[in-house]
Amino acid sequence: MSVKKSNKKNKLQLVKGMKDILPDEQNYWDMVRAKVKNIARSYGFARIDTPIVESTGLFKRGVGEDTDVVSKEMYSFVTEGGDKLSLRPENTAGVVRSYIEHGMLNLPQPVKLYYMGPFFRHDNPQAGRYRQFWQFGFEVIGESEAVIDAQLIAISFYVLKDLGLDAEIHINSVGDNNCRPQYLKVLKKYYQDRKDDLCHDCVERLAKNPLRILDCKNKKCQSLSEEAPQMVDHLCEACKNHFMAVLEYLDELDVKYNLNPRIVRGLDYYTRTAWEIFLPSNEEGKLNALGGGGRYDDLVETLGGRPTPAVGFAIGIERVLAKLQENKITPTPAPDFDIYVAQLGVEARKKALKLFEELRQDGLQVTENMSKKGLKDQLDIADKRGTKYTLILGQKEISDGTVLIRDMENGVQEIVDYNKIKNEIRKRLEHKVMKNSKLKKIS
Ligand code: AMP
Repeated sequence: MSVKKSNKKNKLQLVKGMKDILPDEQNYWDMVRAKVKNIARSYGFARIDTPIVESTGLFKRGVGEDTDVVSKEMYSFVTEGGDKLSLRPENTAGVVRSYIEHGMLNLPQPVKLYYMGPFFRHDNPQAGRYRQFWQFGFEVIGESEAVIDAQLIAISFYVLKDLGLDAEIHINSVGDNNCRPQYLKVLKKYYQDRKDDLCHDCVERLAKNPLRILDCKNKKCQSLSEEAPQMVDHLCEACKNHFMAVLEYLDELDVKYNLNPRIVRGLDYYTRTAWEIFLPSNEEGKLNALGGGGRYDDLVETLGGRPTPAVGFAIGIERVLAKLQENKITPTPAPDFDIYVAQLGVEARKKALKLFEELRQDGLQVTENMSKKGLKDQLDIADKRGTKYTLILGQKEISDGTVLIRDMENGVQEIVDYNKIKNEIRKRLEHKVMKNSKLKKIS
């Protein structure tokens, strides 16, 4: 068989906008996942995992056909059987589909769910923006009370705080079907009169989704938006009371927030409370968005369920990790191992394989490296992994039915009967723990 030398053309490499999560980074990922699971448990959220692929119609109907995420960024395809499918660009629509499909509306309400997983958006990759990225998110379906909005905002703040990141919450209300249409008319009129100063995208937004002009990143549009009419001044009585109540709960919880009329979120399903979570960026005065959320009281009905209020948020994991690294926050290292099983020679390796497995199954913190042959190499590894004892099996030990126990602290080695090794090692480990705790007390 001839092996072709790889050249640039046929070299297989990472697809643009995608990212490998290499072994060195896994500790960071584990740290974030553990914090998310922990906080979810405390607040009574149950985990949900929905598929990565959903029908395209779900996002068109749920997220909105005119949103950037659906109209420009979705990975959509038609299967051989003619099904129109998409890789999920976000998860609220999928979770709501599942809530309806599995009759969760018959469970005691609200239903509190959280998720973690990959999402896909075909956007221009740049720092902190990938085509496959991870989010974790929390959703509360079946409750309209403002206390839940406040609690979710607090969770989105606390989960980052628990990781050592001090986030800024920016909050707004985008009203509901009762008051928003009126506001949109006023807003449209405002931008219509200044149309010549809008960027190309915003001219398009003016017709389809004028609210989105408010969060355009273009400098000219931004300066126009400074003076634009604000939704909070056009809220109906019910939306205003709801928003005030959310803010009061946040005050009660001591969660700081900035009222920001530009927070409108990019997706169609939002009603009333909308918020985003930021951290200062490397560039002075600029902020990095880590996540966002809001109420979506009409989405369950839009997707075919009975009218059910809901609220949720999502945070991008890669952006959290970047901030952890930027702030030099490191994961706690995995605990050291207690025992290393070393082997010298073919026969000893066979026996060592078995001994290792027996100790592991017995619940001991044991490690090995069967591909190493020399004792020095193996003792070095044992040292690096912080082990307290190394069990050495060589030709002599095999014929005598013994094992050599090496105390890694002082290098003292003793011969022990193979059949007594488990008891012996447990005894010694207990003794070491006691000795160390006494030493700690004295110092
Ligand atoms: P969104 O709902 O679009 O505001 O997304 C919520 C969070 O997900 C953002 O604040 C980011 O942290 C993260 N996110 C969204 N899109 C991407 C992307 N293309 N690459 C990396 N993270 C993303």
